[in-house]
Amino acid sequence: MTSLDDLPIRDDLRGMHPYGAPQLTVPVALNVNENTHPVPEAVVERIVAAVREAVRNVNRYPDREFTTLREALAAYLGGGVMPEQVWAANGSNEILQHLLQAFGGPGRRVLGFPPTYSMHSIIASATGTEWVAAERDAGYDIRPETAVAAIERADPDLVFLCSPNNPTGTPLGIETIEAAYDATRGIVVVDEAYAEFAPREVPTALTLLPGRPRLVVSRTMSKAFAFAGGRLGYLAADPAVVDALRLVRLPYHLSALTQAAAAAALAEAPAMLAMVDDIVRQRDRLLAELPGLGYPTLPSHANFVLFGGVADTRATFDALLREGILIRDVGIPHHLRVTAGTEEETTAFLRALARMTP
Ligand SMILES: *Cc1c(COP(=O)(O)O)cnc(C)c1O
Repeated sequence: MTSLDDLPIRDDLRGMHPYGAPQLTVPVALNVNENTHPVPEAVVERIVAAVREAVRNVNRYPDREFTTLREALAAYLGGGVMPEQVWAANGSNEILQHLLQAFGGPGRRVLGFPPTYSMHSIIASATGTEWVAAERDAGYDIRPETAVAAIERADPDLVFLCSPNNPTGTPLGIETIEAAYDATRGIVVVDEAYAEFAPREVPTALTLLPGRPRLVVSRTMSKAFAFAGGRLGYLAADPAVVDALRLVRLPYHLSALTQAAAAAALAEAPAMLAMVDDIVRQRDRLLAELPGLGYPTLPSHANFVLFGGVADTRATFDALLREGILIRDVGIPHHLRVTAGTEEETTAFLRALARMTP
């Protein structure tokens, strides 16, 4: 059997581990922060109709500039974001890869604040960008002074901030983003994958875009939008940033089928987002009920909750899995992360956990 080590693989990839959230078929999957509500039937019909039309022209390459989709994404974001400020790719992971290909790479550094989304450092490595990890404050917060001090030490080419943060769910103050921007010469990427689950009055980094050409706000249709399998991530930034990404994307990276399906889903945004309020209620229920079971929680502005007080994470994870409930061990000692599911799924999780709590 040939192993990786027998291959002439890049030295910097030796010993690395691929992203590996378990993909198991279980009745209650609350492990990767998907919207667990099914896509409404009327939306299914609209997407299928759009894809059917697109298939007629699939002998031709797709619109390289995905113009219709960019217009739809800009309209969805609102707040004066123009189509030329929008870029999209096959998931926001590919968005981050484009950013690192254009602004990172060998000899360059990206600063991040773990614990954070594991793909940030994995994509950094894959693009040969050095990942520099900085400390957070108590409660996983990042105060403006903390961000500025870390930037002064590392002098990064990019700064990755995640708001709200995954896997902690904790919000990030907009003052920290402003301070980080002013302190760095680099690109500041704010990963807002969960923005739709935050309280409406919390300002998004989109409000900071005017006058900040090195600021990038990354979003995805994978979470609130119930489109994880459709693979569509996007960003808003200065049009010059978008021009830079055109240099590194593969031609026609967004298939005609992806473009058609995503645009059709966006046209049904109210229906696709209809379950967000319910998911927020289930998240708030987790926040309210877990402490009573002996598991303290962190504040969450996302569709998941990180809870502590777990004596043996492996044992609790396995016991839940035996009951058909899959959650996530994110590698923080005595903590586990659970996605807010439907009311039934959330109830099943809370009941199972209550049964195994001494
Ligand atoms: C889930 C998640 C994403 C989504 O990635 P896609 O490639 O768009 O599915 C991006 N950022 C964070 C922080 C996430 O948790």
